[in-house]
Formats: sequence, structure tokens, C-alpha cells
Amino acid sequence: MSEKKVLLHITDLKQYFPVGKKQIGKEQLFVKANDGISLDIYEGETFGLVGESGCGKSTFGRTLLQLYRQTAGRSIYYGRSVEELAPKYVSDIFNNLPEKKRKCEEARERAAKLRAEWEKMPEGTAKNIELQKLNEAETLARNELLDITALIGGLYVADDLKEISQVYVKEYNATLNRRKYNDQITTLRAEVSNKRSAMKEKGKGESEIQRAVQATEDKIKQLQSQVAQEEKQMQAEAARIQEFKKQNKAKKDFGLYESYMDSGINLANLTDVEMRFLRRDLQLIFQDPYSSLNPRMTVGQIIGEGLLAHHLFKKGDGKMQDYIMEVMEKCGLASYFIHRYPHQFSGGQRQRIGIARSLAVNPKFVVCDEAVSALDVSIQSQIINLLLDLKEQNHLTYLFISHDLSVIKYISDRIGVMYLGNMVELCETAELFERPYHPYTEALLSAIPTTDMDHKKEAIVLEGDIPSPIKPPRGCKFNTRCQHCTEICKEVEPKFEEVTPGHFVACHHKLNVPK
Ligand code: SF4
Repeated sequence: MSEKKVLLHITDLKQYFPVGKKQIGKEQLFVKANDGISLDIYEGETFGLVGESGCGKSTFGRTLLQLYRQTAGRSIYYGRSVEELAPKYVSDIFNNLPEKKRKCEEARERAAKLRAEWEKMPEGTAKNIELQKLNEAETLARNELLDITALIGGLYVADDLKEISQVYVKEYNATLNRRKYNDQITTLRAEVSNKRSAMKEKGKGESEIQRAVQATEDKIKQLQSQVAQEEKQMQAEAARIQEFKKQNKAKKDFGLYESYMDSGINLANLTDVEMRFLRRDLQLIFQDPYSSLNPRMTVGQIIGEGLLAHHLFKKGDGKMQDYIMEVMEKCGLASYFIHRYPHQFSGGQRQRIGIARSLAVNPKFVVCDEAVSALDVSIQSQIINLLLDLKEQNHLTYLFISHDLSVIKYISDRIGVMYLGNMVELCETAELFERPYHPYTEALLSAIPTTDMDHKKEAIVLEGDIPSPIKPPRGCKFNTRCQHCTEICKEVEPKFEEVTPGHFVACHHKLNVPK
């Protein structure tokens, strides 16, 4: 797995929702739905996410897609590069580099000071409580540093930065211009085609039509030549900066900045427009096949909506209908259903429509949020097999969210177990079922019904409900329900760490770890 390419690199992702309005003199409370999740999702894998309802797994999926803006942390997407998208936050960082550097240095100094103080403290409760503060300060310092080094790669000396930032800003503006021209061309083309058909209907001759649309066609040609010119300039600029990078590669000692090159896009920093552009790469399949489809739209319109929104087809383009029918057939729906409405389908068929809608835009990453939970067991396996086939054909990566471990086991390459907003265990599927390290995972596994009486394990009953995510228990959040809990669990939050290769867990008293 480690040789695979990372598609999403998530660090310390937090999603806090405020409870009510802030009142003067009172502490603002938050529901800590995701409380510092870090993980890598690899290209082409199915990553299963499991946990009781309310543990924050759906929030995590939606936050990753930035349907809810994340409160803190970094979510780096490698499906496209910063050069390709040219996001505004990159030029902002370049423009404010001295300020960014100052903030970064301050954060690092503060973290170093806290660590020195913490190390001098005597062992005991106070030291354990301070550890949390220290962890937060070190995370902040690391993130500030990553923000800068991710962009400049630590390859350049300070004087070169000005030049790089100027080139970047130029590229950024050129990309925006190109997008604007291309949008205008699409609109003008639609205008020409509408005018043509309207005049034909009125029985006008070809020469008269040609005269009427000539001005618009001239405008299209003019815009096309502008796009070509911009393209040429961009290429020249790109060649120049490549050469510049080559010449400067040797200068690696850039003081504060470590050598670290990263061309991924931080989804958390994108503007709404930039995020909308990336939406076609990052899709969602909903749990409820009933409420997620508009009852007033036909299947064709439902699937076509995304195609038009992402400019993959123009309105009225005959080829779009052929494409939609092709996608429908791939998803196991007869193409002649194209004009039918959602109420004319069964639950399983509706879920196929939802899948077709997501996959029609050719995404790279799909969050399947309890995608089979609302379906009969017999239909569940058909939909799971369809998802697996489509993944193979379209080189997809899935985040598969479910509360059902047997479904997760069947579909996932790796599994993450969540509890009260945190990832508590993560490893390959077979390993998790064979050797769970975390007491919570062990309890979940023991509750899976089995017909194999020889290997039947005694079910571990988890007493009580999940505690409130507004005021979670101190130390390990699972301590109120864990049968292995000791004093340290009530005070010190266990670190999420790699215990054996590829197997991560957060627990002070890990189970089943090989000696
Ligand atoms: S840290 Fe302690 S309370 Fe938490 S899961 Fe491990 S043993 Fe249980």
C-alpha cells in the first residue's frame, strides 16, 4: 500500500459546530464532530469508515468534500496540481510571505517554549493536562510551516521568492482569463445554434442566416485567438520557471524551511468558485435513494444536471442524451428509462440513478455515505458489486462510510474505526478482523452475528451511550465504556500512532499486539 500514490492527505481535520448563539459572558460551546483526524487515502483504494451512529463519520465525508467548511486542519488533494487550478490562496501566501514567515516563526518559538516548560514539570495530573496544550501548539506550528514549505518547496533562497511569486501571480491571472474566455465562447456558441434553429423554423435561407450570425461568429473567432495567445504566453512562462527551478535546485539551504515539495491543493483554503470547479472530481453518493432525487425531474434531467453545471455538454446537445444512456446502462439501468420519474423505480433502481448521477461527471474520488444502508439485504450486494465494477472501470477511489462492519469488510481495502469524532484504529481489512488492537474495535467485531458456532466469540456489551460530543470525557474519550480502562486513560489522551507497519491505533493498553 505504501508504494501507492496518495490522493488525499488529511492532517488534523477538525469540524466543530457551534451550539446556539454566543452569549456575552458565557463560554461558546461546540459539537466536536471531528476532532483532529489525520490519514492518507490512496489512489484506487476503497477506504472503509465505520463506527456507531453519531461518531462523526458522515460529517467527515462531507467535510472532506467541503460541503461543510472545515474548522481547522489541512486536506490536500493530489488529483490535480496547484499549477493547474491556480487557487487564490497560493497567490495570497506569496503576496504575504513575510507576514506568513513571521507567524510561522512565532508559532514555532511558542511551541518550543511550551515544550521546554513541559519537560521540566514534575510527573502528574497537571503535566498530563498541559500535554494537550503542547500538542495543539506544535500542530499549529507544523501547519503554518507546511503552508509555506508546501508552496516554495524549500528549494529557493529568499531573493528568488519574489520572482517565483510574480510568475505565479501571472499564471494565476492567465488561468482565470482563459476560463472566462472559454465560458464566453460556450455561451456565444449556444447563441449561434439557437439563432440558426429559430431562423430555420421561420424558413429563412442559409445566406440570410449566415449574415445574421456572422457578428457572433467573428466574436467567437476573436476570443479563440485570445485564448490561443494566452496559452502561448503561459507555455513560455512555464518553460521559464522550469528553467529557473532547475538552476536553483542546488540551493537547498533555505534556513527555516525544510526540503519539502508539494503540489497538492489544500481543499480547505479554496474559494467557493474554485471548489465548485473541483466538485466534478469529488462526488457523493447519498444514503437515502428516495429523498436525494428530485421527484419533478426525469432520470435524464437528474443525470444531465451535473453535466451541464460542469460544462461537459451544452444545453440541447444531442450527444448528451447518448452519453446519459451509456452511463445508465453502465449502472444497470435500461436506457429507455431516461424519461421516467423517480417514483416509477424501486429503491435499488433509485440508488443506481444516484450512482449514475455521481459517476457521469467522471469523478476521481467518491464518498459513499451509507450508500446501501437503506436497501434490502438482497439488493445491497447487487449495489456493492456494481460499485466495485465501476471502481475498476473508472479508476475510482472510494471513501465508503457504513455502520455495518460486514458490509465494510466486503468492500474495503483498509478500514478506519471512528469513535466520538476521532479515528481510534486504522489498518488493512484482514488485519483488523484478525487482530484488533483497540478495545472499541474488539467490541464492534464481537457484535457481528455469525453462524459459525465453532469460532463464535462472546459478545462484548458496550454499556451506555456515546458521551456528548459537546463535553467529551477527558483523556481517552472511550474511557467511560471501556472494560480495560485505568487511571491514565482518564487523564491522558492516547496518541494515534503506527504500532506495527500500516496498523495505527490510539490506546494506552493495546490488545493483541504481536510481541
Ligand atoms: S486508552 Fe484506556 S480507556 Fe481508552 S480504549 Fe485504551 S484501554 Fe480503553
